[in-house]
Amino acid sequence: MLNFNEEIEDLQRKGLLRRLRQIESPSSSRIVVEGKICLNLSSNNYLGLSTHPKVKEAASQAIQRYGIGTGASALISGHTQLHQELAEKIAQFKGTEAALIFSTGYMANVGTLSALLGEGDLVYVDRLSHASIIDGCRLSKATLRVYPHRDTQSLSRHLKRANPRTLTLIVTDGAFSMDGDLAPLPDIVELAKQHGAMVMVDDAHATGVLGPTGRGTIEHFVLEGQIPIQMGTLSKALGAFGAYVAGSKDLITYLINRARSYIYTTALPTPMVAASLAALELLQKEPQIRQQLWDNCSYYKQGIKTLGYDTLQSETPIIPLLIGESSLALKVSEQLLAHGVYAPAIRPPTVPQGMARIRTSLMSTHTREDLDYALELLHKVGKGLGIL
Ligand code: PMP
Repeated sequence: MLNFNEEIEDLQRKGLLRRLRQIESPSSSRIVVEGKICLNLSSNNYLGLSTHPKVKEAASQAIQRYGIGTGASALISGHTQLHQELAEKIAQFKGTEAALIFSTGYMANVGTLSALLGEGDLVYVDRLSHASIIDGCRLSKATLRVYPHRDTQSLSRHLKRANPRTLTLIVTDGAFSMDGDLAPLPDIVELAKQHGAMVMVDDAHATGVLGPTGRGTIEHFVLEGQIPIQMGTLSKALGAFGAYVAGSKDLITYLINRARSYIYTTALPTPMVAASLAALELLQKEPQIRQQLWDNCSYYKQGIKTLGYDTLQSETPIIPLLIGESSLALKVSEQLLAHGVYAPAIRPPTVPQGMARIRTSLMSTHTREDLDYALELLHKVGKGLGIL
């Protein structure tokens, strides 16, 4: 019998115990954490759209028209004309024939991977890929090969050894959620062509952020038309909730028939669908919102580098400050919180052993004063704890 108490004490000893904090505000540039107003460096609401008046209005109107829940799975009666419109707009935005709306990104990955792959197939995954990718691969029963982070030489060696007749998929995050760096997609696409493999990209953190018009890493690397399976979320830069998979019409028809996390779950609530549609429109009509995010990124990154923190290879608004030991990362996070900056420590198993960090993430709604305050405090705390 599992002894919960012992397990919990063990986690506590290792500095790995997690606990929930109650948030009493939206996920904006300011956040109220257990009664304390803080500068928020923890949100994936990169463009601040989760509180944008037009996004909120769209959700409210959808509530008036459709109510709250969808009442059934998409195949029964949960697929409204708003879902259809969003799927079409996402496909347009991503330059694919079609798209499918999932209830979460976790479910999109798990459902797609377990539908595409089966026993005897081969799947290659970057070591730092999101947990939902790993879980989807495991559920599929395909042979899972994990290659070192962004190491295309290792991937190439693996692929050379593979039986060319085996169905092979390479799946990677486009932008990595805890490191903020980018997958070497041009090399991956090239290797896939050489070895007849399919490629799937999870652009959860890149959609709305990367590329000249925010279409994601595929636009960033000018790889349009070369990645047949594109997954992303509606919950980060788009400020809503839910996810999509975009690709060929046949892929989408196949998923509607085979992705169990699509078939056997209630359809995404319409307020979220309507909010995503409004966010997508804002993204395209108001490019200055993204510009503001990137201006903030260059200013803050410059400051952080001057302080001397190791930010790994970040190229996105996710800017990790590598600390190392979990207990030290926790101390940094606690001291930041005590001085009004919320930036949680990210520890194993979310990141590898010895790579605990403070994951800071920026928003277009942060002001220069916000960033200056954060930089000043990070300097003070880093010096105080002997990190800098
Ligand atoms: N993929 C990546 C890269 C993510 O970071 C996340 C969530 N943080 C997901 C998938 C899962 O998305 P969701 O939160 O919608 O389940």
